[in-house]
Amino acid sequence: GNLEEEEYDYLFKIVLVGESGVGKSNILSRFTKNEFNLESKATIGVEFAAKCIQHEGKAIKAQIWDTAGQERFRAITSSYYKGAMGALLVYDISKHATFENLDRWVNEVRSFTQPDLSIILVGNKCDMAYAREVTQDEAIRYAQQQKIPFFETSALDCTNVELVFRELLVAIARRTD
Ligand code: GDP
Ligand code: MG
Repeated sequence: GNLEEEEYDYLFKIVLVGESGVGKSNILSRFTKNEFNLESKATIGVEFAAKCIQHEGKAIKAQIWDTAGQERFRAITSSYYKGAMGALLVYDISKHATFENLDRWVNEVRSFTQPDLSIILVGNKCDMAYAREVTQDEAIRYAQQQKIPFFETSALDCTNVELVFRELLVAIARRTD
């Protein structure tokens, strides 16, 4: 039924971070609505969406915040991060510059959240292997350095989208139990 009326055992706020154009909004719409939009346009309207998953007999509700395009202007405010328990740190495997800027995003999200924040590194657009600029090896090295899990996703063909949210939510549920 209605999202607001849905019953759940846990409610976790998750934030999407990463450069503009890496596919954050489409990862969110793929996960919450099973929708994908080919047109590149700044996020409009809704700033967050929610979805429930079941895990070991418990309902975990994710409230997932999207940037509404502020990341273009380096203007994400502290309220975006406030209360976040997890983050997907997203880059585009076909644009190396989006990988090079990850430190900035890690530092920003860490500065506004609790030290135990769960983060997953997400290399999106893995359907574009023909245009790959970021190898899996260098992403794995970065993830090891940051001590966070790493997955490649495609919001276009659905690869691993459900999985990264599930991994993140289960990791948060484990540490909050
Ligand atoms: P955001 O700025 O990070 O929110 O990125 P968007 O979700 O708006 O996506 C930017 C562009 O990349 C759009 O044209 C999308 O259609 C495209 N895009 C997003 N995810 C994927 C993906 O997994 N594969 C491909 N090929 N394109 C994608
Ligand atoms: Mg967006």
